[in-house]
Amino acid sequence: MTDTMRAVVIANYGGSLKVANRPVPRPGFGEVLIKVRASGLCSTDLHLLSGRQPLGDLPRIVGHELAGKVVELGEGVSRWRTGDRVTAAIDVTCGRCRHCLAGETQLCRTMQRIGFERDGGHADFVVVPAANIVEVPAEISYEAAAILPDAVACMYHSLIHQGGVGIGQRILILGVGGLGIHGVQIARSAGAEVMATSRQAHRIALAEQYGAIGVNTADQPLAVAVAEFTDGEGVDVVVDNIGTRESVRQGLSVLRPGGKFLVVAYLDETFEIPSIPLFKTELEIIGCRGSTKQDLIDVVRLVQTGLVTPILGASYTLEQIAQAAARLESGDLVGRIWLTRD
Ligand SMILES: [Zn+2]
Ligand SMILES: [Zn+2]
Repeated sequence: MTDTMRAVVIANYGGSLKVANRPVPRPGFGEVLIKVRASGLCSTDLHLLSGRQPLGDLPRIVGHELAGKVVELGEGVSRWRTGDRVTAAIDVTCGRCRHCLAGETQLCRTMQRIGFERDGGHADFVVVPAANIVEVPAEISYEAAAILPDAVACMYHSLIHQGGVGIGQRILILGVGGLGIHGVQIARSAGAEVMATSRQAHRIALAEQYGAIGVNTADQPLAVAVAEFTDGEGVDVVVDNIGTRESVRQGLSVLRPGGKFLVVAYLDETFEIPSIPLFKTELEIIGCRGSTKQDLIDVVRLVQTGLVTPILGASYTLEQIAQAAARLESGDLVGRIWLTRD
């Protein structure tokens, strides 16, 4: 095997994502080396350039959505074999704190995340703990598997665990992007009726294709649409994939009494919460962070059984990272952008 590999790195904050040659990492105790076959490009990869989240020593290889083949086992790894097709849960957690012990690994205070505090998957190879990897069945492509850890598992965690979404409920999803379109499918497969908003017609059309009632908020007032959808009652759960003061204000205003507002996105640094409705109608505002390994295992099964279809947009090579980033920022795609490997 070669000693060096291509990798998309953050070399310094404030710059852009660049392709560099990096040494191929070696798996330590309990770790595996994965030959990456596809990795999903997330807007977070671009936000990391700001330096607002410390990544430790630079250069850092980014990429937290990946799928590939196990090519080398570190010492102490017995459950996996070379050649296994896998994806990986993003959070590398301690396994000992009260949150980890309770299965709420997304709250572990000492976690390191793949593609954040440790090197990630926009590379030819990545080392991850064997404890993080999840088998990908043959009928799921590498590119589809690559986007499951974040774009799909995060929505699953939000809706099913944090939101308790289930049969007969009426759900409002604010924003049909890479997360929202999977949220539509997950909520539908859980038995909920779903309304989804966007200001772009092609996003509305895609949400409708997967069973949502679409509302184009550019030309239709949300309050009126929700009143019609719920016979004036308000929705059970709002999922905010936009994360602005305006989306929070709008979302809270269309909840039924006792409804839940799921905070998934955080574009604005602070939100304003009107106190009287919060108090009078016992609204719940619930943060949603990432997903657990079990969430990832669950979504792999949802995809395998056809309940959820990963929505892919366009592919680029590692060397085309600048074009891929520009395409992501242009916002014209709903489906995930992924980076291919030759
Ligand atoms: Zn992400
Ligand atoms: Zn922990």
